[in-house]
Amino acid sequence: MKILIIEDEKKIADFIKRGLSEENYAAYTAYSGDKGLDMALENNYDLIILDLMLPGIDGISLCRELRKNNFKNPILMLTAKDRVEDKVKGLDSGANDYLTKPFAFEELLARIRALSRKDNSAQPTLLKNGDLQMDLLSHTVTRAGKKIDLTAKEFSLLEYLMRNAGKVVTRTMISEHVWDINFDTNTNVIDVFINYLRKKVDGENKKKMIRTIRGKGYVLETAD
Ligand code: CA
Repeated sequence: MKILIIEDEKKIADFIKRGLSEENYAAYTAYSGDKGLDMALENNYDLIILDLMLPGIDGISLCRELRKNNFKNPILMLTAKDRVEDKVKGLDSGANDYLTKPFAFEELLARIRALSRKDNSAQPTLLKNGDLQMDLLSHTVTRAGKKIDLTAKEFSLLEYLMRNAGKVVTRTMISEHVWDINFDTNTNVIDVFINYLRKKVDGENKKKMIRTIRGKGYVLETAD
């Protein structure tokens, strides 16, 4: 899971980043609202931790801007204030949750877990691409009606590819979203897992879905 922390108090931002990295989240920091907005619009973060009081563009305006630009993932707002009207304003601007500083790191983690669960429940539980079907509830995968046995990692990798069907996903995107860490770019862990998947998903099937885009990454080709 890729998380962006937008917070001008460098000490707090770095502390959160360090803590999240220890929990295997891929965490990034922006020390100003403007920088944070640029980063958020350029990269697809799974969640944003946003400070309310920022120099330049403030948290409320930034949140509105993100929602206007179709950012759909959870936003958790941080503030030093504990006033009801600030909470209402924050939630009105499109934030999903609110945490008052100072907070215990454990509480931040709990909120993040809750928000990502909520996010998952809003997504479809059955993914389909041509004759390939993935049921996220029963954790089963079939191709042309035949069951495919996958390990947990292979399952997450296929889920990520299916959610992004038709789009090229890079190794960096895969390592961040499927493994929650940044691999050393020299390791071939991802290529190995892609090969396992290819054998199981494409195997003897005439139509090959998993394609390598040389120098870029992989694409799961869309099929009707
Ligand atoms: Ca601040």
